[in-house]
Amino acid sequence: MFLKHFIWLLVLSSTAVVLMDQAVSQTPLLELLRFLPFLIGSGAIFISIFLNRFQPILILATLMLLNLAVIYYRPTGADLTTLTLFPLVSLLFPLNLLLWSWLPENGLHKKGYVVFQLGLLLAEVFAIYGMMAYLPLAWWQWVSMPFEGNTHQITLPALVTFIVVGGVLLFRAALVRQAKVLDLALLFVLVVMAIALDHVHQPAIIYWLSSFAALMILFALVFDAHHLAYTDQLTGLSGRRALMESFMGLGRRYSIAMMDIDHFKSFNDRYGHEVGDQVLREVADALRQITVGRVYRYGGEEFTVVFKNKTPEDVIGAIEAVRQKIADLTLQVKQKKRVTKTQVTVSFGVAQKTPDLKQPEAVMKAADEALYQAKKAGRNQTVVYHHATKKHQKR
Ligand code: GH3
Ligand code: MG
Ligand code: MG
Repeated sequence: MFLKHFIWLLVLSSTAVVLMDQAVSQTPLLELLRFLPFLIGSGAIFISIFLNRFQPILILATLMLLNLAVIYYRPTGADLTTLTLFPLVSLLFPLNLLLWSWLPENGLHKKGYVVFQLGLLLAEVFAIYGMMAYLPLAWWQWVSMPFEGNTHQITLPALVTFIVVGGVLLFRAALVRQAKVLDLALLFVLVVMAIALDHVHQPAIIYWLSSFAALMILFALVFDAHHLAYTDQLTGLSGRRALMESFMGLGRRYSIAMMDIDHFKSFNDRYGHEVGDQVLREVADALRQITVGRVYRYGGEEFTVVFKNKTPEDVIGAIEAVRQKIADLTLQVKQKKRVTKTQVTVSFGVAQKTPDLKQPEAVMKAADEALYQAKKAGRNQTVVYHHATKKHQKR
């Protein structure tokens, strides 16, 4: 592990030193700018590999190829390659983004799939070369149709494609229940790159905006990774790591509730683990309706609700409402290929911070004790922990 990190640090340091001469030998700042998209882009690709994500790699590779095209065929407005390359690249860029975000993310482990997608990108590069040489004139006239020749450099077909792709991405982001930050970032990349390609004759603007686009992808990757680490995959609720972090900012007054599904083991035994998972999701959805507190999946079939600035008296109404709601739920489950209806109940234990229970961990333990009492008293109920009397109040 240590050695692995040593190696990439070594590679980065030596690259910096080797390129040092080139970078500072009286190069005007503008010349350095064209390296920026590649610097940020390759950094982001490095992190994508680390996080086992292939989609961002393809997006970044497309972005970097676009910048390569700008560098090698720096548009002067006069020569033929410029006239043919840019309308084509501007048209294909948004379509590429759409394709990469539409193809499912399978990580880097499925080698065949990775090679297939890289092959697509490579084939596209060759296709562009081919088209530049062989496309009939009438087609070029169509592809490079100006949007508004004097102030705008983006072509009409490219602009329309950008808008349509933007619309599709926006629509999809609105439909998905939990849109990934990367999908949102893609929308912004699209807007920024449309503006960049509208300045084809000022390459510096393309380098600059491409760098920001790559930076957005990089940030989105980090946000998504953070989200993944803190969210429970099955229920979409915050996980135990997030719960432990929330303990740091709880303040002087708070209550904690522990919830556990009743007889869940026998439920699993009867209907199978998959149905159990489905029930966990439905219970989590019901719990989400507690808005006065924050809900976490503690682990297994146990959930925790943290109520800031609240006493158990303040929150018992909300808890009881949800407990009743879960008890009233009719669950449709598959049993031996037949759909049957069943029900589940849950029990809660609640405790608050007191002079005796100063630490959140202690409050949680007390809530757990109250939960145990709720189970002992027959389940499907809420018990509040009362330390002073050592008695528990049943609701
Ligand atoms: P009690 O009413 O006393 O809580 O009884 P119980 O059977 O619910 O209690 P116990 O804690 O012994 O059982 C927990 C069961 O929850 C064990 C396991 O089968 C099930 N379980 C835990 N995590 C998951 C999960 O992620 N998915 C599914 N399907 N089942 C789980
Ligand atoms: Mg349990
Ligand atoms: Mg249980």
